[in-house]
Amino acid sequence: MNRQGKLYFRYGTMGSAKTALLLTTAYNFEERHMDYLCLKPVIDTREQRNVIHSRIGIERECRWIYATTDLYQLALDLYRDERRVVDWYLIDEAQFLTTDQVDQLARVVDDLGSNVICYGLRTDFKSHLFEGSRRLFEIADTIDEIKSTCNCGHKTIVNARIDSNGDFVEEGEQVEIGGDDRYVAVCRRCWRNKHIEQSSRATLPLEFDKIDHQKLDL
Ligand SMILES: [Zn+2]
Repeated sequence: MNRQGKLYFRYGTMGSAKTALLLTTAYNFEERHMDYLCLKPVIDTREQRNVIHSRIGIERECRWIYATTDLYQLALDLYRDERRVVDWYLIDEAQFLTTDQVDQLARVVDDLGSNVICYGLRTDFKSHLFEGSRRLFEIADTIDEIKSTCNCGHKTIVNARIDSNGDFVEEGEQVEIGGDDRYVAVCRRCWRNKHIEQSSRATLPLEFDKIDHQKLDL
């Protein structure tokens, strides 16, 4: 096959409008009558509708990617069943892909000439790479950062997980279901400062804490 596709990785922190960008891209493809397919790894099996949804209120239907899905096989099946070689695959939450699935996408690009744009997070709440993101950094043709800004004005780097008091959570599973409202994207400096503040608060003696509150009441 002569056409030449590319594997793209567009990464950012939470709240950096990755999904909105994906949906805007899908809309543009529709306008130009280009063939595309949206895909998304299923993390929350309680999800009823197979859509990619943005907080700004737009959505598109998508196919789900399960942990066992072979994405190269999916592309071959589309050709076998529908004589369809998809021009553009748009993948949301690409950080949740497995290493194998990213390699399968690379084969879709190299063997079939499709383009694949993966949107996802760079790192988890502990600031470590997700599996899918790691592999995309390793083999993607084109890597773009979708930037957003911390409250202090610096670029966001870390997706901090927060508890009901707004404190940063330091331990837990890498993936937590249904927790979008439990994250805040911050710059590296603010992330560190908050950790220092929390750990110094934790070492204060209880009495000191009480005295402090009494002072505040005056
Ligand atoms: Zn900051």
